[in-house]
Amino acid sequence: MNPVYAQRQTRSMPQEDSTAEHQHQGISTAMLESMAYPYDLPALPYSMDALSPCISERTLRCHHGAHHKTYIEALNEAIGDTEYEAMPLKALILATAGKPGQSAIFNNAAQAWNHAFYWDSLSPEGGGEPPPVLKRMIEASFGSVDACRNALTKAATTQFGSGWAWLAQDGKKITVLKTSNADNPLTRGMTPLLAIDVWEHAYYIDYQNRRKDHVDGVINELLNWEFAASNLA
Ligand code: MN
Repeated sequence: MNPVYAQRQTRSMPQEDSTAEHQHQGISTAMLESMAYPYDLPALPYSMDALSPCISERTLRCHHGAHHKTYIEALNEAIGDTEYEAMPLKALILATAGKPGQSAIFNNAAQAWNHAFYWDSLSPEGGGEPPPVLKRMIEASFGSVDACRNALTKAATTQFGSGWAWLAQDGKKITVLKTSNADNPLTRGMTPLLAIDVWEHAYYIDYQNRRKDHVDGVINELLNWEFAASNLA
């Protein structure tokens, strides 16, 4: 893991005050993974208005404080007094993936993890170019960073209905994929590098049906390529 990120894993609970100094206090994914049942909603690594205008404060408050929070609460409710209480979150996701009787646990566990990963995939200082090591790997897999961005745009705009677009590492290759609902690259044995949420709740307040406008803004202005590089296996 990128040492800069590794140092940022400790921080306090979410703060309601969007003006509070909590930019870059931590990394949501690492925080969530280090937690045990009962899970808490991880704080955002930036203030509620930090991603505006691409993602408005209103959208971020609702997405984090209502949607993500509800997945965490439903996860706690679903795994209380079961064998899954003691299981690390990633292991829980893999243990329940594709098992029809456990879809409620899988969906809430994966969405709890996906959203923590998504917050870290965005940054007010995002966009731009990937760090050199990742850039070389992307060029080897896609030909250019622009081609990779285009593949991400296509995945995010063509995912039918609710789901996610991902940059992921599959062996030595960097790849783009789209997943439905709560599914993610972990269930395919890949290493997630970046996530783009394309559920309507991610953009509807700001863009209504114009998903592509939202996706273009996220990719060009907010994607945290440093975080992506820190996730390389
Ligand atoms: Mn979401």
